[in-house]
Amino acid sequence: MIDYHIHTLLCNHAVGGIRSYVESAVRAGLSEICFLEHFTLDHASTAHAMAPEEVPFYVYAVQEMKRAYRDRITIRTGLEVDFCPEAVPALTEIIHRFEFDLIGCSVHFVDGINIASRRHAAAIPDKDFDAVCRRYVQRIREMVEIPFFDVVCHLDVIKKSGRALPADVETGLMEVIDRMAEQDLALEVNTGGLAHPVKACYPSEALIAHAVKRGLALTTGSDAHKAHAVGAGIATTSATLQKLGATHLARFNRRRRTLVPIVPQPTPQESQ
Ligand SMILES: [Zn+2]
Ligand SMILES: [Zn+2]
Repeated sequence: MIDYHIHTLLCNHAVGGIRSYVESAVRAGLSEICFLEHFTLDHASTAHAMAPEEVPFYVYAVQEMKRAYRDRITIRTGLEVDFCPEAVPALTEIIHRFEFDLIGCSVHFVDGINIASRRHAAAIPDKDFDAVCRRYVQRIREMVEIPFFDVVCHLDVIKKSGRALPADVETGLMEVIDRMAEQDLALEVNTGGLAHPVKACYPSEALIAHAVKRGLALTTGSDAHKAHAVGAGIATTSATLQKLGATHLARFNRRRRTLVPIVPQPTPQESQ
């Protein structure tokens, strides 16, 4: 099992030292993990992400874990870049100085609202929700045009509060997946949503099925911000992916992608 979306203390909204996440991954029986720390140069989101001057420390801390645990688990170094079109040149300049395995991208802020925050997302009035969703999709459309990223994280996280997305937003996200296929971008299946009000993965099964049909490479990630959340929902979701026709998962090493077969896993209920 692979968990390709794990945070650390450096993002200012996760808890526990990096070693506790690795220990939790080993206990959960994961074969491979990727730290995917938040990184941005957008002023709206810097409080929720690692600062540029912390990147060398982050890369070093993950490397130290790679070495310490190399007999037990494969560890990768990645970033979750909060997309901001103006900051892409400066971000890529910083990122190229280091050896990363995987660069993810996502949209957390729309019109200054943190749509990935449970509290802020829930505070969007119903009357404004559809318009915010449409602006979110527009931002995602811009993001997938940038020929730099490897994987798109939590594609439909705008549904976090549990409110239904307007039909044209669902269609817009389907079109984004079509474009991702042309751009050879991988799609993350993020299990973090299972613990959110929406109680579903990001993206939805309909979007995953569409991605499988279009041949997109898939990753699985828990979006853990606490050690005990590492690997949560991954076994069940791997089974769901197989039901939806997926046969392989993507792995990344120094930003080169390979595919590994999805191995059927006993779900936590079955293994008890
Ligand atoms: Zn976060
Ligand atoms: Zn995120």
